[in-house]
Amino acid sequence: MFKKRSLLLLMLSFVLLFTLSVGCGGDEEVAETELSFEDGTYTGSSYGHNADIEVEVTVEDEEISDIEVLSHKETEILTDPAFEEIIPAIIENNNTNVDTISGATLTSSGLIGAVEAALEEAGAEDYFKGEVVEVDNASEISDSSYDVVVVGGGGAGLVSAIEANAQGADVVVLEKMPFIGGNTLVSGGEFNAPNSWVQDNLDIDDSVEQFVEDTLAGGDHEADEDLVRTLAENVTEDGEWMRDYVGVEFIDDYLMHFGGHEVARALYPVGGSGQEIISSLAERAKADDIPIKYNTEVTELVTDEEGSVVGVVAEDHKGETATIEAKDGVVLASGGFGANIDMTQEYNPEIDDRYNTTNQAGSTGDGILMAKEIGADLVDMEFIQTYPACDTQTGHLSYVADTRFDGAIKVNKEGERFVEELERRDVVSEAILDQTDSVGYLMWDNHIKENSNMDNYMTEFEDLKKRDQIVKADTIEEAAEFFDIDAEQLTETIEQYNEYARQGEDEDFNRRGALLELKEGPYYIQKIAPAIHHTMGGIKINEEARVIDTDGEPIEGLYAAGEVTGGIHGANRLGGNAIADLIVFGRIAGGNAAK
Ligand SMILES: Cc1cc2nc3c(=O)[nH]c(=O)nc-3n(C[C@H](O)[C@H](O)[C@H](O)COP(=O)(O)OP(=O)(O)OC[C@H]3O[C@@H](n4cnc5c(N)ncnc54)[C@H](O)[C@@H]3O)c2cc1C
Repeated sequence: MFKKRSLLLLMLSFVLLFTLSVGCGGDEEVAETELSFEDGTYTGSSYGHNADIEVEVTVEDEEISDIEVLSHKETEILTDPAFEEIIPAIIENNNTNVDTISGATLTSSGLIGAVEAALEEAGAEDYFKGEVVEVDNASEISDSSYDVVVVGGGGAGLVSAIEANAQGADVVVLEKMPFIGGNTLVSGGEFNAPNSWVQDNLDIDDSVEQFVEDTLAGGDHEADEDLVRTLAENVTEDGEWMRDYVGVEFIDDYLMHFGGHEVARALYPVGGSGQEIISSLAERAKADDIPIKYNTEVTELVTDEEGSVVGVVAEDHKGETATIEAKDGVVLASGGFGANIDMTQEYNPEIDDRYNTTNQAGSTGDGILMAKEIGADLVDMEFIQTYPACDTQTGHLSYVADTRFDGAIKVNKEGERFVEELERRDVVSEAILDQTDSVGYLMWDNHIKENSNMDNYMTEFEDLKKRDQIVKADTIEEAAEFFDIDAEQLTETIEQYNEYARQGEDEDFNRRGALLELKEGPYYIQKIAPAIHHTMGGIKINEEARVIDTDGEPIEGLYAAGEVTGGIHGANRLGGNAIADLIVFGRIAGGNAAK
């Protein structure tokens, strides 16, 4: 029930009234405006990062007394600070003019916009707009001491911290963003494990040797075989640790079959997303009382007179610095440099401005640069992987486009196939850039859709549709027309492809799997382009995850795990091998640092 009340607002504004009347020069008057709105609850919505955010705002006695989020499809964890910080800030200050949260800008703006839309509904939008309110969600940092200091709160960092804690160490995680997760959070979360319980369930024969062979071949035999072997020998047991100790839930009767792997061997977390991995790691870290310092950027490694690493210097977002001592070791887990375009171009001049990035903003290569500064060796820095199926506008990796693993074909504007769909990422990326407008078009039919995981990614689908990046149409011609693709040629291409599917052999490109006819509407066409995805190069480590210097010796007190390291993937990382890498070497780094 609305409590009827009228609010008289005296808006004292000095209005210069100019009149053309002779004798009536410029005059200054005080304008009195009456605004009225009623107490009550109002709903409003506005677009965030992925979709509309809908809120209900309660106004009581000229104040915003409550904001309830009715629905949203923003990425959990990544956008939590926006909801956790902005809502109380609006209520406490009775003001919607609140700063956005860095790293979650679109969600912040969407949330604020939704509250403003609700207030507009009340007729009170302007009343609640004051001076800008700064939102401060930084952790306090001060000079302090721990056994193990972990740099970076992504997958490798959280795994290392949990393992170090399990070995009895007093650990802290320092994360420069306002949220944890890094690239691991936005990843598909799938990782390869030979002879896993899911392969048992599905009767798939596999071996550690086959995994080693695939990984070495996939990386053009540039990888360090000892590291690859360590990965292959440990990942299945570590996958069970993720399931049983960390609490990650996996689908027990489904595996992803990434390109370059002889068999399907990638474990698939529930939801097909790194959210399951990161939220489980975060819960485990919380249960273990491991402190995580947000907005805390490590800027320097501290060494003693012998060159051993004994701590780090960190800075909060206000520029305050502190030295944090690491009595037993520092683990660098700060990820790769895929979001640092200058650095990618410096190490690989072939990366040009046509490439966007799939990476999180935090992947700027900090750990690599800090380690180099104290004499660490860097390896394979020129190997930068691009991902072929990304949003042409944002660079985001498209999970809807995973339909190519289930049968979708790739065509160009001329309506022709131009590459084997399951070729290596670098090959497909190059091929796409060679096409008209440097884009490709992925096409599939209803049958392929029904046999894929596309339903898991309907938020992405709706977003793509809204931005004309995907079309769903009853006929091939209609779908082709939407993107101005040569419909006649496309129909011919599909007829030919369907013939190959019936005979079980793709005579044009020798497609190695999921050779299925496209014949059942509705049809889907998605526009895709490649983006920078993974930096294979990084800090040289040994099988104990110890950082190696340019003389080939381990640097005392310094360990590294995850995408900050190099040598495990050679010239090209196979799908599903990065999460595998961060789990295996994260555990090794954390365990050894705690010793
Ligand atoms: C969209 C996408 C999908 C992917 N899907 C898969 C997949 O399905 N399977 C697979 O195997 N691989 C996948 N990958 C690759 C994989 O996700 C990454 O290689 C992996 O998650 C990297 O983990 P990490 O812990 O090393 O780094 P991250 O998870 O990136 O974490 C690094 C953290 O360190 C923080 N940090 C950086 N610098 C500092 C500093 N100076 N001080 C403090 N903190 C700092 C960052 O903010 C970040 O939180 C995907 C990658 C992307 C981008």
